[in-house]
Amino acid sequence: MEMRIAGTERESVVDGPGLRFVVFAQGCRHGCRGCHNPDTWNQAGGALIKVEDLLEQIKTARLIKGVTFSGGEPFLQAAQLAWLGREVKKLGLDLITFTGYTWEVLLALAEEDNAVRELLLVSDYIVDGPFIQEERDLELPFRGSRNQRVIDAVRSRQAGVVIEAGFS
Ligand code: SF4
Repeated sequence: MEMRIAGTERESVVDGPGLRFVVFAQGCRHGCRGCHNPDTWNQAGGALIKVEDLLEQIKTARLIKGVTFSGGEPFLQAAQLAWLGREVKKLGLDLITFTGYTWEVLLALAEEDNAVRELLLVSDYIVDGPFIQEERDLELPFRGSRNQRVIDAVRSRQAGVVIEAGFS
């Protein structure tokens, strides 16, 4: 199974807690003003790669605590990333997915789209919402604007309300 990526980062410390392997998905339709990665918007851009090959790369990154899916918009390639996410979890790694959709919109999309539901289910944490320039805050850990939330996806699903994770 193939997907389009803008790139990968084998040892990031800025995309979630601990050392993380990051997959930057190619393609985004949110069009946030002030986006730092407009090169990731084109859904026909980036590079095609087999998700099985991404998994092999992740397996060789021995010191990582977890994996982060960022973008671009990971939920535009939800089927591929849900598969990769399940394999990542089998390795004992945690999974953070960044998205320009809000949690509430994702829950609604998941009603109609199995792949979206599966990527939501496999993610330990979701960092949600578009980048809003007026809400920009350089002090925030792992996100760019104050409207974005680091959501504990597991506890939020169980509780039926958004529970934010206390990353710092
Ligand atoms: S969701 Fe992210 S990649 Fe997409 S336009 Fe907004 S800031 Fe850029």
